[in-house]
Amino acid sequence: MTQTGDALQPIVIAGAGIGGLTAALALRQQGHEIVLMDKAAGLSEVGAGLQLSPNACSVLDRIGVLDALEPHVCAPDYLRIRSGKSGRQLGRVRFGDFLKERHGFPFWVIHRADLQRVLLERVERTPGITTRLATEVLGLEPSPYDHLSCIYQNDEVTANLACKALVGADGVWSRTRRIIPGHENARFSGQVAYRATIPIEAAPANWRKDSGLWMHRDSHLVHYPVRGGRELNIVGLAEEAWRDETWSARADTKTVLHVFRDWPSEVRTLLGKAENWLKWALCSVDASGPWTHGHVALMGDAAHAMLPYMAQGAAMAIEDAAVLARHLPPDIGNIPAALRAFERERKPRVTRIQGIAFRNAKVFHYSGIREFARDTVLNLSDPETLAARFDDVYGWSPSD
Ligand SMILES: Cc1cc2nc3c(=O)[nH]c(=O)nc-3n(C[C@H](O)[C@H](O)[C@H](O)COP(=O)(O)OP(=O)(O)OC[C@H]3O[C@@H](n4cnc5c(N)ncnc54)[C@H](O)[C@@H]3O)c2cc1C
Repeated sequence: MTQTGDALQPIVIAGAGIGGLTAALALRQQGHEIVLMDKAAGLSEVGAGLQLSPNACSVLDRIGVLDALEPHVCAPDYLRIRSGKSGRQLGRVRFGDFLKERHGFPFWVIHRADLQRVLLERVERTPGITTRLATEVLGLEPSPYDHLSCIYQNDEVTANLACKALVGADGVWSRTRRIIPGHENARFSGQVAYRATIPIEAAPANWRKDSGLWMHRDSHLVHYPVRGGRELNIVGLAEEAWRDETWSARADTKTVLHVFRDWPSEVRTLLGKAENWLKWALCSVDASGPWTHGHVALMGDAAHAMLPYMAQGAAMAIEDAAVLARHLPPDIGNIPAALRAFERERKPRVTRIQGIAFRNAKVFHYSGIREFARDTVLNLSDPETLAARFDDVYGWSPSD
């Protein structure tokens, strides 16, 4: 029994996050009709900063949104790595023109809401993509007529839509993942992130342009400008048992200052200026688990949510979208085989990058002799050598 016969049926994408929106545009470029469903009633301004490395930008260029993103981004020249204990600069990683010349695409930082809005505007202007908000994908079933049917709920009404494939881009708590036999649920890492933005004028001059990474025992801090340089995005990450499934739990400044109590006064002064702290529990989904089953494929966080310690979560979702589209040309016959090929191609790369992020979670929080060894290496390395260590991550681009 095959359900691929009707080429006119849409591909349903569950989730209009960064991955789902990019997949909608990439799959539409291949000529497929797309129905993009998101359970959220409106795609609101939730989130804080995301890093868009050259590998992600190469896909965003391919789907034609790179220029529209430019007014909203910043391109830091360096990542400045500092000690959260002494405040001392430990090393610098060269970004800016160096990475652009090396890989052909820029290294940008952006507010998640800006990226999502630009992608959504492009999706809404693209004929052949239908967006349905407040619509939760519940599952998939063969209908009485042998056609594949996506089950969804809108306004408490459950309905079916015939489709030729279902792409689960529904994030770390994916419901689509439940369709895949042998899947595992997301796992809490024991680490939480506190994030806030402040007006850029509130930050010291040396914090405004470049990205910063501060490392301390059991915690670290990342900051970079967003909103075209008008705001500073601050994310403080710490080991903590709290867990919650939302992206929008509130945290107060007093709590953040307590968590970062033994940090340099320069950092604490800045943390004290932010009032809009949100907190989220860092979870991961083992990338080596199954991503596909018949006409269903997972992508992005649904398949491989990772700790943000390589800043590649959104980039991997964006890469997935391009590769998925390449495996689904307009005349695709055997969709399950194409989805399996997509999974085979993506898994080694995503698993490796997820592994680096896990390792960084330890390295960033070293203390004692290991901290000394890490800091010595950073001190002795020049900024270009440190940047070149990520050539295989940043140098990726979608091939035809
Ligand atoms: C609200 C929000 C804020 C975030 N903020 C940040 C941030 O500040 N910094 C950062 O680094 N990362 C953030 N992330 C995570 C980051 O966007 C992702 O790691 C990355 O972009 C991968 O994207 P994704 O498309 O795979 O998943 P996500 O971006 O998580 O998108 C998943 C989408 O699926 C929808 N969805 C879930 N279940 C269903 C269902 N059953 N049916 C239909 N739709 C469904 C959700 O509403 C969501 O829009 C945030 C994610 C979300 C959802």
